[in-house]
Amino acid sequence: MDALTDFIIPIVGLKLGDHSYQFEVDGKFFKEFDNIELQEGCLQIDLILTKRSNLMELTFHVKGSMQSLCDRCGGGLKLPLQHQEMRIVKFSQEDFNNTDDVLILGNDEHEINVSHMVYETIALGLPSRRFHDEETNGQVCDEDVLKRLEEYHEQDEKDDVDDRWSALKNLLTDKE
Ligand SMILES: [Zn+2]
Repeated sequence: MDALTDFIIPIVGLKLGDHSYQFEVDGKFFKEFDNIELQEGCLQIDLILTKRSNLMELTFHVKGSMQSLCDRCGGGLKLPLQHQEMRIVKFSQEDFNNTDDVLILGNDEHEINVSHMVYETIALGLPSRRFHDEETNGQVCDEDVLKRLEEYHEQDEKDDVDDRWSALKNLLTDKE
């Protein structure tokens, strides 16, 4: 887990107020999370940690790009990504019920590893539809591949129709 030790923030003795941190992530970081959708990318993370008397607010802002595959032509795609998420960390000795939005730390914890929060912010920022698009990512699909896919699709439909005809013909000849 060496790639994630950079994400440990000491919280003992941290003064009340804002503290800022910067991180960078690449393929080594994503390897630790083992998700086929998120494997290669290059992003910068700005974190503002606001310490209050009874809790901490962590605001993550990620910016960069992820490598993906195009849903239309299957070619490599560089997805620009910019996203912000806020997480709340509370301290408690008794209540250890973590929710999606609030992480509970024991009163005696002296550090926090924010790598999972960084990862979640990136995952949440990914667009659900991913394809080459001149307007949103300045990239275009491979025309040759699209043409071949279209031809293949047409041939496939023709074969389907042929299959249905021969099934019908067999039905008719069976009856005779
Ligand atoms: Zn494409």
